[in-house]
Amino acid sequence: MTRTPDDVLAELLALRAADPPTHGGRVLSYVYDPGRADLDRVAEQAATAFLPVNGLDPTTFTSVAAIERGLVGRARKTFHGDGDVVGSVTSGGTESCLLAVKVARETWRAAAPGREHARAAIVLPTTAHPAFHKAAAYLDLDVVAVPVDVDSGRAVAARLLAALDVLGERAALVVVSAPSYPFGVVDPVAEVAAGASARGVACHVDACIGGWVLPWWGDLEPWDLAVPGVTSLSADLHKYGYAPKGASVVLHRGRERHRAQYFATTAWPGYPVVNPTVLGSRAAGAMAAAWAVGEVLGDEGYARLVGRTREATQRVLTTLRTVAGLRVVGEPTGPLVAIATDDAPGGAVDPFRLVDALRRRGWLAQCQPAMTQPDGTVLPRTAHLTLTAVSADVVDQLTADLVGAADEVRGVAPAQPDPSLVARVMTEGLPDELAGVMATLEALPADVVRPALVQLLQVVIDPGTSEGGNR
Ligand SMILES: *Cc1c(COP(=O)(O)O)cnc(C)c1O
Repeated sequence: MTRTPDDVLAELLALRAADPPTHGGRVLSYVYDPGRADLDRVAEQAATAFLPVNGLDPTTFTSVAAIERGLVGRARKTFHGDGDVVGSVTSGGTESCLLAVKVARETWRAAAPGREHARAAIVLPTTAHPAFHKAAAYLDLDVVAVPVDVDSGRAVAARLLAALDVLGERAALVVVSAPSYPFGVVDPVAEVAAGASARGVACHVDACIGGWVLPWWGDLEPWDLAVPGVTSLSADLHKYGYAPKGASVVLHRGRERHRAQYFATTAWPGYPVVNPTVLGSRAAGAMAAAWAVGEVLGDEGYARLVGRTREATQRVLTTLRTVAGLRVVGEPTGPLVAIATDDAPGGAVDPFRLVDALRRRGWLAQCQPAMTQPDGTVLPRTAHLTLTAVSADVVDQLTADLVGAADEVRGVAPAQPDPSLVARVMTEGLPDELAGVMATLEALPADVVRPALVQLLQVVIDPGTSEGGNR
């Protein structure tokens, strides 16, 4: 059976219409809206022009080489790298982090005899992005997760360095975030990088989310490649670079480190293979869009968008600090805010219930479950908000609804785990109210939650057992 393009497109658009709005600032994670139609348009046209191009071979498609040089050059300048800093455009933050871990592993293996097949380890704060756990799982490294300070949510340099000392020879990399996703706070980059460097260990700054924001945020302690001892840095173009999904940069200090990222082989009768990143055939659309958006914005454009983002964030923080029963975790640097509960005379606000109450008002915030750190201390259950430039346009409504949502749930008992929910979600899908589900995930042991999460997501995309699938 064939269908007309109009018919097929109508179906796709109907599917899209059921998604949450990707523009307008109502979705407070996953999407990044500059609030500027001109940027969306140039991104779309750039991406469309590059849809058929294959980034696999920049010697054939020289356009891709030019764009990648442009983006790496812009990133190097923005993050204060000197002429020794080079890197690659990747498909996203996860790939950038994975490649940083690969480079650290190869560099570590090459640094001493007998390490070719030895197992290296990476040290990271508990707040580091799961991309590093994934990289360690894929690349066979051990992970040592180090507790952050519970009140500030910030990594503690002395603890990370002590963990390196315990590992000794096996330590290949230490990770810090600028800022961390869960709490939006910048880790003590300079102290960790100096300590790592003194021990001969690589140090990665994960600026996947903050990279295209922090340079214009205001006067900050150095956190990027200006810091001696920082050996690599990741910054996602598809977040605050306002590019469509599928673009990030990873930078390395030193061309030799960058080379350790590559894979090359002639062990087949086909074309000689050399891949800088994980992918073979490589989409160039998002990369072209990222380049175009960056050129249109320039330094001034970024500064203006970050100014709007910062204004919205300040308004939200100022409002939240007047609301009884909740508190902001630590002192966020950048546009991410985590809201925890706080005992107050009028009653506490449960973050998960707050997320549901916001949802009823048309805002999608994220539930972040509590986490027990390796030393037994507990990072609290929080509600996460990611603000963007467009948030400034809707900040009056957002702050009013934050106050209203908190008023609605203040004093209501915190969401409790309900183990029967797991089976129900498997058969009926996720309910509108997420508090109960998240409280259940929070309470169950990790070895129960992990397979349940896998199964839940697997069911969502399973076409069924009948031939041809069902829709
Ligand atoms: C988003 C993010 C990543 C991973 O990026 P993806 O683009 O989602 O793969 C890594 N680190 C931090 C801090 C992030 O916010």
